[in-house]
Amino acid sequence: MAGIYIHIPFCKTKCNYCDFYRITDIARIPVYLKALEKEIEIRKEYLEGDEIESIYIGGGTPSLLGMDQINSLLYAVDKTHNIIRNCEITFEANPDDLSASFLGRLKYHTPINRLSIGIQSFFDADLTLLNRRHRALQSVECLEQAANAGFRNINMDLIYGIPGMTAERWEANLQQIPYDKISHLSAYHLTVEPDTPLHRMVETGHIRPVDEETSRVQYILLCRETGKQQFQHYEISNFCRDGFYSIHNSGYWKGRKYLGLGASAHSYDLNSRQWNVSDVKVYIKAVQDGGAAFKYERINDTMRFNEYVMVSLRTIWGVSLKKINSVFGSEIVAEFIKNASRFLDAGQMICIDGIYTIPEASWLISDYIVSSLMLMPKHNK
Ligand code: SF4
Repeated sequence: MAGIYIHIPFCKTKCNYCDFYRITDIARIPVYLKALEKEIEIRKEYLEGDEIESIYIGGGTPSLLGMDQINSLLYAVDKTHNIIRNCEITFEANPDDLSASFLGRLKYHTPINRLSIGIQSFFDADLTLLNRRHRALQSVECLEQAANAGFRNINMDLIYGIPGMTAERWEANLQQIPYDKISHLSAYHLTVEPDTPLHRMVETGHIRPVDEETSRVQYILLCRETGKQQFQHYEISNFCRDGFYSIHNSGYWKGRKYLGLGASAHSYDLNSRQWNVSDVKVYIKAVQDGGAAFKYERINDTMRFNEYVMVSLRTIWGVSLKKINSVFGSEIVAEFIKNASRFLDAGQMICIDGIYTIPEASWLISDYIVSSLMLMPKHNK
C-alpha cells in the first residue's frame, strides 16, 4: 500500500507563523494544475503499481480550487494508479472558504471523503495575532456546516502555545470543540519559525513566546480534555474517535511509500527521498519540458533506523524489536535495548511483547528520548 500527496501552494494571504512553501499569486492556479496533471503522468511508475490507500490534497489552500479542478486532478491520479475502494481522500480547507454551498458540492460532486479544516483557535485574539483570514464565528459555523453537508470524517487543526494564550483560554478552546461533529483532532504547539512575521514580532519585543511551563500545562489540558471525550491519543499531536486514524499520516509514521506531487512536495520509495523544487515557476517550466526539478537523497541503514525510531516513538504503535531484528540485525537490537533500558527503568518508556512505546505522560520529552536512541554514523552500510 502507498499514499499520494498533492500540494496546492496558493494562499490568499500569508499567516504570520507559516513557513510552508506558498505564494499569493492565485492567478497561476490554472497553469499550475495543468503542470500537476502532467507530473502525475510523468511519475506514474514511482510507486511501482502499489495500491493507493490514501490521497491527501494539502497546501497552501486547496479550498481555493473549484470542483472541476479537484475532479480533474483526482481523475488524473485514478487513470495512472491503482486506487483501492474506500481510499481515504483528504482535502485541506480554510474556514473562510467553507460555505454551505461549497461543502455540499465537495461532498456530492467530488470523491473527497475526509476534510481537514484549519480552525487553529475559537478566539479572535489568537486568529488576529496569527493573521488567519477567518474569525472565531466561522470556526464554529464551518464545522457545523461540514457535518450538515454529510462529512463523517472531519479533522480540525488547533494551535496551542500562542503568545498571550492563557491556560484558561486554551481550556476554553478545547471545550468549544464540537466533539460530536469531528472524528479527528490535530493539535500542534506554535513554533516561531525563522524569517516569519511572528519571528520578527518576537525579535522586536512585540510579543513573548510562551515559557516551558505554560506549554507543559497546555499539553496536559489537551490530553485531559480529549481523554474525557473518549478521543484516543494515538500520536503526539493527533487524537481520534472510534479508530478514525488518519490513514495518510499514519502511512508516514509507519514508513509506507508515498508520492508527493507539486512544488515542494516530498516523495519516499523506501530507498530514497526526493523533494520537488520550492518554486512554482521553476516547477511548471521543468514539468512542461517533460522533466522534473527535484533534489534526491539515498537512505542508508543508519538513516533508516533513526527515522524508524523517530517516527514510531511518536505513536502508540511504537518500535518493534522483531522489526529491528529483521531489517537491521541482532547487533542493532542489542544496542537499542541497552540504550532504552534507562528510560524503561525511569518509567519513561514501556515495553510489552517486544514493542517499545513512550507513554502519554512522557511524550513531552520524546525528543530527548529519541535522540538518545539514535545511531551514530558508524553503522552506515
Ligand atoms: S493558510 Fe496555511 S499554508 Fe497558507 S499561509 Fe496560512 S498556514 Fe500557511
